[in-house]
Amino acid sequence: MQVAKSAVLRTVHEVRFGDVSFDIADSEIDRRPLSERAVALLAAFVEDTYETCSFHRQRLQKRGITPNELRSLEDFQRIPLLTSADVAAIPDFLLLPDLYRTMFRDGFGTLPAELRIAKKFMTSGTTGRPKVSYYTPMDWEANLVSLGRQMEGVPLAKYTRVFNLYHPGHSAAKYTEDAYSRLGCVVENRHPSHKTDDAVANQFYAGLPDHGGFNCIVGPPGRTTDGPDKGATVDTLLNADIDNHIGRQVRYIAVAGSPLDSRLRIRERLWEANDLAGAEHATLVQRYGSTESGIVGSECQQQDGIHLFFGFVYAEVVDPESGRPVKNGERGVVVVSTLRHGSRYLRYALGDEATYIAEPCSCGRVTPRIKDIRRVVDLERLRTGCAAGGA
Ligand SMILES: [Zn+2]
Repeated sequence: MQVAKSAVLRTVHEVRFGDVSFDIADSEIDRRPLSERAVALLAAFVEDTYETCSFHRQRLQKRGITPNELRSLEDFQRIPLLTSADVAAIPDFLLLPDLYRTMFRDGFGTLPAELRIAKKFMTSGTTGRPKVSYYTPMDWEANLVSLGRQMEGVPLAKYTRVFNLYHPGHSAAKYTEDAYSRLGCVVENRHPSHKTDDAVANQFYAGLPDHGGFNCIVGPPGRTTDGPDKGATVDTLLNADIDNHIGRQVRYIAVAGSPLDSRLRIRERLWEANDLAGAEHATLVQRYGSTESGIVGSECQQQDGIHLFFGFVYAEVVDPESGRPVKNGERGVVVVSTLRHGSRYLRYALGDEATYIAEPCSCGRVTPRIKDIRRVVDLERLRTGCAAGGA
């Protein structure tokens, strides 16, 4: 089949800082312990951040950390944790390299296109100042490419026609649209004017009728009781699906945005719907991420914990007191570093607690996994020994 050369999109497969580049599309990364090159990339990221971003430079200087002495993960673990309260207390541009700060007023036109701001995402700010994440075009590309590693082992035929349930303004909606398209799917977004569960179900029924309808759903699992109503979820679509299209035709569902609450019985209801339609049980996986960090991890088909994917982000599970990693089977707080040229979240505690699994998974990946993720109200309280619950 002939494809016009001009139509071929150049895909960024690497994250690069200083003279270290790292191929983030290579799924072998997940089958080996963290490589020396990965550690070198982390070091180069810290050095670049130290040189370009005075907010982080001051934080590191306070701890007496000189990036060019950073040689190992132990050195990296000396970097102080950045908490949600820290980020809420500063203007969002402070996490960007200083160069960008002066350009908001007059625009970024003097920068090469690949260094301009491509995306700005923010949290709702219901618990204080919104947390903001800026991406350059290459940052965004790197975020998208990471989906390929998460989907490794899942035949493309299972998820070629995606119904994207996320609110169209949400970072997860943009990610779903762009990342699944990159892998070779067609993605239809929930129409912004559809506010009721029935309207969403009708759109779902009407989609791609000549091609078998949607075989994949991506969206939040259910409405959270404490957050704002963000619209359709897998839970509400299952309820509204009286014709059982899900049971018949959906082969793959990925949920993220809030923990998969067992009380919603999403997996059980999905499989009951499959049984009713006489169809094979569909796959349901959980992804983990945030507006600040992008996607951090994903369940594999074994569904035995969420694999943490190195490359676009580096995630750790640490003791909030010492900032040091917890051991296999222990609980700690999830800390991410976003290896981006835009907003630099360096050892940022997302506000979640999880159990850390270091043992290799039966899927063949050896990457660390997390389980039983719980939101902690704030890290400061956790640090003083008053762990906050709330699943
Ligand atoms: Zn696995």
